[in-house]
Formats: sequence, structure tokens, C-alpha cells
Amino acid sequence: VVRASQVCKYYGGFQALDHIDLNVEKGETIVVCGPSGSGKSTLIRCLNALERHQSGKLTVCGVEVNDSRQSVDAVRRKTGMVFQNFNLFPHMTVIENCMIAPMKVRGMSRDQARATAERFLARVHIPEQADKYPAQLSGGQQQRVAIARALSMSPELMLFDEPTSALDPEMVREVLDTMVELAKEGSTMICVTHEMNFARQVADRVIFMDRGSIVESGAPEAFFARPETERAREFLAQIL
Ligand code: ATP
Ligand code: MG
Repeated sequence: VVRASQVCKYYGGFQALDHIDLNVEKGETIVVCGPSGSGKSTLIRCLNALERHQSGKLTVCGVEVNDSRQSVDAVRRKTGMVFQNFNLFPHMTVIENCMIAPMKVRGMSRDQARATAERFLARVHIPEQADKYPAQLSGGQQQRVAIARALSMSPELMLFDEPTSALDPEMVREVLDTMVELAKEGSTMICVTHEMNFARQVADRVIFMDRGSIVESGAPEAFFARPETERAREFLAQIL
């Protein structure tokens, strides 16, 4: 689903991604962690063409990511993204939030889009919130709407960028539970998160980034028990 080879990304003169090699297979759940500023969000944003890499080759869901409108549109259609701050449309109800992209991008009819949205709201366990506005929901509920909205486009790859870090502690669990269900159902997911219990529970691989590089990559058990680098040890000591 993802083939990244020697991908580099610069913001002006600053190198945010330094020769990233990453392959992700269908059905895998990958957890990305690392210190602040290490390039985790940049990596995720390059994967769905929100940011453009400058060198190296990147293929996502069979599409080579480049500057063409065609490539960017295709990648966005095939990936679903969930952000830290939900990014819901505030002036639309929950169900409208989930209907808009399938109607506009996939050309679904209103009825079809409504049926699809209802199905995904049920899947994230908030079917009863369909007609509320985002501001009327808790943070955890809003984040589950964001997940349902992404799922309503049937993405081949789900990208999560710290989906629980803006939530009150009591709401973290409900969002993580939803993500665990998705992982167990076989979704292909790349999740930037410091929720190491989530990583232990469902990650096929944990990737540790530092200063724009992938420093370690391995099974969660091995990464937590025996981090290979001093940088990873320090990082784990801080968050565990
Ligand atoms: P955090 O854990 O704080 O979210 P991160 O690992 O997601 O950090 P990134 O947001 O990918 O880190 O940022 C990587 C580096 O690139 C940082 O040094 C950041 O300051 C820089 N950076 C990110 N976005 C931009 C931008 N739009 N313009 C310039 N520099 C940027
Ligand atoms: Mg980030």
C-alpha cells in the first residue's frame, strides 16, 4: 500500500524527512512514534499529498505521488486522514459531515450517501448523534465522527496523526477502542500516536523517528523490550 524509497522533504533549508524508506502491506497496522519535531506529521502528510516531498520515490495505494493534480486527487481519494483536532465542518451536522465527500467526490446520491454515513456512524458507535452539530458533541465523539467521515470514502489506507492527544483522558479509550476494532477488521493503518498500549495491542510494527529519519522499525514487543538505540531508550523512558 505504501512504497517509499529515499524520500526527502525540506521546509526551505530545513530537512524534515531524511531519506525515508518505508513499505507498508495491505492489512498492516503501523505505529509511528518519536520526539516532537522528528517528522512524524510531515511523513503522514506526505503520504496523502498534503505536503510534497522533493526527492525520492513515493507510491501510495498504487499511485505515484507527484505534483500533478491527477496524482494528488487520486491519493486523497484513496486515503483517509484523521487529525489531532478533528477538523470537522462546524456548520454541518454529523451526518452531513460524513455525506459530503462521498457525494462530491464519488458522485453518490443523497440517499446512498446517507445510508453509507449511517452505517459508519453505527460502526463507531454513535448512530444517535447523526443530526447534532460537532460543537454539541464531546471530543471523543467528534473524533469518532472524524473516523466515520474518513471511512465513508472507503479508503485503502487510514492515516491518523495523534488522534487522541487533544482529548480528555476519559475519552481517549473510546477512540482507541474504535481504532483497535478497525485494525482487527484488517484496515491498513498508519497511526502517529504515543499510546503504547494501542501499539502493543494491534501494531504489526512500531516505527521510531528522530530528526527526520526512521531510526528503528520492528515488532512492538521487541521495540519496547529492547530498543536498539539510545535515542529510542530515552524516548521510551519519557513516555512510559
Ligand atoms: P510533534 O510531535 O510535535 O507533532 P512531529 O514529529 O509531527 O512533531 P513535524 O510536524 O513533522 O514533527 O515537524 C518536523 C519538523 O519540521 C519540525 O522541526 C518543524 O518545526 C518543521 N516544520 C513542520 N512544518 C513546517 C512548515 N510548514 N514550515 C517549516 N517548518 C516546518
Ligand atoms: Mg506532529
